[in-house]
Amino acid sequence: MDAKFLDILVCPVCKGPLVYDKARQELICKGDRLAYPIRDGIPMMLETEARELPPEEEVK
Ligand SMILES: [Zn+2]
Repeated sequence: MDAKFLDILVCPVCKGPLVYDKARQELICKGDRLAYPIRDGIPMMLETEARELPPEEEVK
């Protein structure tokens, strides 16, 4: 996945910046604690597709 995605992508919920988790292939919003999956290199920027991060999961 191209790093330039990060410059244009924001969280669809809060319009905040996203953190790219390379290992999990997810884009994470720290504010909402939501992780948006990247499938075949395409970020799924939909709240309905996002995974809610459990409290014990460390947000990098
Ligand atoms: Zn957000």
